[in-house]
Amino acid sequence: MTQYTPSRRHLLGVAASGIAAAPFLSGPATARNIAASAPPKAEGQPMPRGTRLPASPPPAPKGQSIGVAIVGLGGYALNQIMPRIAEADHCHLAAVVSGNAEKAATVAAAYGLPEDAIYSYDSYEEIAGDDRIDAVYVILPTGLHTEFVLKAFTAGKHVICEKPMALTSAECEDMIAAGKAADRKLMIGYRCHFEPYNLKAMELIREEALGPLRVIRTAHHYRSGPSTPATNWRHNRALAGGGPLEDYGLYGIQAGLYLSGEMPVRISASTQQPANDPRFAEIFAHTASQMIFPSGATSQHSTSYDGAGANMVTVRGQTGFLTMEPATGYGGHEMMLRKGRSTETLTPGNPSIQFAAMLDHFGLSVMEGTEILTPGEMGLRDTRLIEAIYRSAETGRTMALNPDATMTED
Ligand code: NAD
Repeated sequence: MTQYTPSRRHLLGVAASGIAAAPFLSGPATARNIAASAPPKAEGQPMPRGTRLPASPPPAPKGQSIGVAIVGLGGYALNQIMPRIAEADHCHLAAVVSGNAEKAATVAAAYGLPEDAIYSYDSYEEIAGDDRIDAVYVILPTGLHTEFVLKAFTAGKHVICEKPMALTSAECEDMIAAGKAADRKLMIGYRCHFEPYNLKAMELIREEALGPLRVIRTAHHYRSGPSTPATNWRHNRALAGGGPLEDYGLYGIQAGLYLSGEMPVRISASTQQPANDPRFAEIFAHTASQMIFPSGATSQHSTSYDGAGANMVTVRGQTGFLTMEPATGYGGHEMMLRKGRSTETLTPGNPSIQFAAMLDHFGLSVMEGTEILTPGEMGLRDTRLIEAIYRSAETGRTMALNPDATMTED
């Protein structure tokens, strides 16, 4: 393998990413065969199937905490984030924002919120006058993130925005600029940065427990059921972009970056969009991509909405091999380190603490004015990489990247 001397700027990643305009903003929107759907609009949805609400309202937070309004009461908000807020010391639930009044009332009652802590998408801007709300957590379909993040900053609130941050780097730049103008924090909900298995993997690679890094491989696949752009936002380009890459595959791209600790200098990719499958009328079914790092290491990523289930990360160094499967989910992680003839199973901690750890980091950062570990700039960086992946797939060329993840040329 050719050994390159990494330039310092290429090792900086987020710190180096400015908010200069990308040379072009292709993303999935300009990819061939992708039809445009209606502009995104926030609309109330039924209670997600299988939702379990708390039998009694959670106890008050133990430490000094900030009040958080949850925007969007879908599967991730109701089944992962809201139950975990009670495990955090530095955040508490202050309000909900939903387009379905009946669902919002049921959820608010279960969590012990008063009626005046329920907002609709239409009354959302009134949170400006609600001192109980310090921050909002936007957990809407991706195509709606920008609108609701910008309105939150106008209302003077801090923001956690779910991943992916937005569908174009231009939107990410707008959000970052608005947060700065309002002097409010912006965090992207990249929970794996707070999860013990992924933290352990970062530490092992940093300490060269595997020797110099050679290749990272990630696979994030599942088979979606029958659906169309009208029945499932994840299949609708205006709400989901190009599909599995922004949604599930982003965990692999993220792992490639936080495990290598480098920014790629080149990226190449391919996409597939099967004909005559209503699920893929507007989005891609599969995306494969490869990033080349200044050190000469590579990371290879596959993601699919029509592939047998996979949630896997492997890392091969010169002298050791690390595997995590599942690697980036909510729990059940497994990790194995192989060096020579020895194989070690590692159990660095309980993966489910990632949610409370992320919320506590945010709460403390707001209260103490400290840096966010997964800021808007990280979401912008990743959105630029996604744009480069689609551009490479569209043109059949390898895209060269600047240290801030913008493409050096079309
Ligand atoms: P979901 O379909 O379960 O819920 C989406 C919710 O958004 C709906 O229930 C509704 O309340 C609201 N909504 C408003 N307008 C809508 C519209 N036009 N169409 C559909 N829903 C609309 O989705 P989800 O899985 O909760 O995902 C929401 C966000 O959270 C996405 O950005 C997704 O990428 C992110 N997410 C992150 C993780 C993670 O592990 N970090 C996991 C799942 C989802």
